[in-house]
Amino acid sequence: MARLNILTEEDPLLRKKSKEITEITPRIKQLLDDMVQTMRQANGVGLAAPQVGVLRRAVVIECEENVVYKLINPKIVFQEGIQKGPEGCLSIPGKSGTVERPNHVIVSALNENGEEIQVDGKELLARALCHEIDHLDGILYIDKAEEISDNE
Ligand code: ZN
Repeated sequence: MARLNILTEEDPLLRKKSKEITEITPRIKQLLDDMVQTMRQANGVGLAAPQVGVLRRAVVIECEENVVYKLINPKIVFQEGIQKGPEGCLSIPGKSGTVERPNHVIVSALNENGEEIQVDGKELLARALCHEIDHLDGILYIDKAEEISDNE
């Protein structure tokens, strides 16, 4: 596994729309593994492929220790409720903002074996799913945040 370089806010790649993955090649699996390692080393709870310079629809999430989701072509198929809370991003280090998100989402995706799965997420997991899927469409949380402040 390799640790990847995380692009920061001003990089134009973060504003592009990522492409669907049509074939889960060994390279895509390697990418997912490398993204997990990179996320962990950066102490993040999620990472999207465009953040490491790959414009493909893949995200990894680990909100709860050792519960890792590797999602390919994730799509929100259900959402309900509202939560408002603090959010940060590995591509925008040292800052956080208050963002409104659905409190509950169901996401359909492919796992790394190409099987269709659904992830049912509430609260922090719902927030992470929405945040990472936004990255695939070139959207950053600062586009939606009410207040952005520097972390202490
Ligand atoms: Zn982010």
